[in-house]
Amino acid sequence: MDLSNTNMIMATGMEYLFEATHYDFPVIEYGRGSKVWDVDGNEYFDLNAGQFCLTFGHNYEPFIECINKQMKRIWHTNTATLTPEVFEAAKKMAEINANKLTKTMFLSTGSEANESALRYAKFITKRSGVVSISAGYHGLTLGSQSITFGGKWALPNISNAYSVTAPDYIHSEKNVSMEEYIDNCIAEAKELVFQKREELAAFIMEPIIGAGGMVEVPARYMKAIRNLCDEYGILLIFDECQCGFGRTGEWFSYQRAGVVPDIVTTAKAMGMGIAVSAVTFKDSIIKGVEGKVTNFSSHQNDPLSAAVVCFVIDEIRKKNLLKRNKEMGEYLMDAIRKICEKTEYLIDARGVGLMCGFDLNDSLIDDCKTFSNRFIKKMQENGILIQSTRNGKTFRLLPNYLITKAEIDYISNGIIKSILSM
Ligand code: PMP
Repeated sequence: MDLSNTNMIMATGMEYLFEATHYDFPVIEYGRGSKVWDVDGNEYFDLNAGQFCLTFGHNYEPFIECINKQMKRIWHTNTATLTPEVFEAAKKMAEINANKLTKTMFLSTGSEANESALRYAKFITKRSGVVSISAGYHGLTLGSQSITFGGKWALPNISNAYSVTAPDYIHSEKNVSMEEYIDNCIAEAKELVFQKREELAAFIMEPIIGAGGMVEVPARYMKAIRNLCDEYGILLIFDECQCGFGRTGEWFSYQRAGVVPDIVTTAKAMGMGIAVSAVTFKDSIIKGVEGKVTNFSSHQNDPLSAAVVCFVIDEIRKKNLLKRNKEMGEYLMDAIRKICEKTEYLIDARGVGLMCGFDLNDSLIDDCKTFSNRFIKKMQENGILIQSTRNGKTFRLLPNYLITKAEIDYISNGIIKSILSM
């Protein structure tokens, strides 16, 4: 694979660009559907769908038309001015959410939606503490990083952000049964919440943990936390930035568990790659703060964001993608299970709808990070872009919603070819 233009652009370009992460993907020139092409003309299957945001893939013609149409009308207003598409998008958000979650504000990124959820939770409860789950990822702005992975990357951490042990099976202890483990996690959360009850504003979690491992939080745990929050007047926030917006075959993953939060945050797939996020409140909790707190952002309720949200919801409905994501998710899961049967290096295929993952077998691999970097490179050589998380241990598969069976077969073959040639 010739990467001469990529190497040259990287060598000169990085002189001026802040290295926010280690950039080892090819430099991409354009994309279409599930594929992208680099500046050397190499073709790749973009299994990450951008950063898991491209709901319908790259360069989707109907979306370009939607953006063009909106840009010719209006794309930005001042924070105190509203436009028809904002009302329409908020109404659609209420339609797809559980019936009590009716009030939405649109923002730009997932971190920002979580910052906003925390901010209003504090105003509503007049308390400031937050509990999160140790494997939860909620963003890396100042407040959100304090609740990401238990605040381990936050320097300094905010003093009243607390974290509790992740209750899912990949983080469970091997010497206890899963049921016992969940009981222990619930007991730990109860103890912490009881101790801090006078200072806690919110408890936040992802119903399906993304960056922390691609694993569902057991419904029993979610219900217990719901009850706990009700008991002490703490607001329950579900972060559905990754697992929401139809990816799992439901509009929201909390609908699978049958547990309704007080606030839900969304991002990624709802914006089709445009920076759009949302925070949606139960209307019963916001009485008294609505309109009384200063506004949040220069980009709150931008008309362009609203038009994007309307488009994404309409398109998911029109193409019946909730049902399709479930079906294609099963096909994808089946494919990863078969991959794991073919190699002992890959284990633990798991997922819901189009939110799937598998692990490196760390009983055979000493240094998962190094192995994973080599595997990612190998996949690139075989024309597939993939990302790992959990320090290289977990690979996540969050493709666009229009992925086909033929494409899943192509990816499976690529994964097998790559792992077998390591
Ligand atoms: N919450 C979750 C569950 C996420 O997966 C992410 C992004 N990975 C965020 C919040 C933060 O979103 P953003 O990167 O858009 O700020």
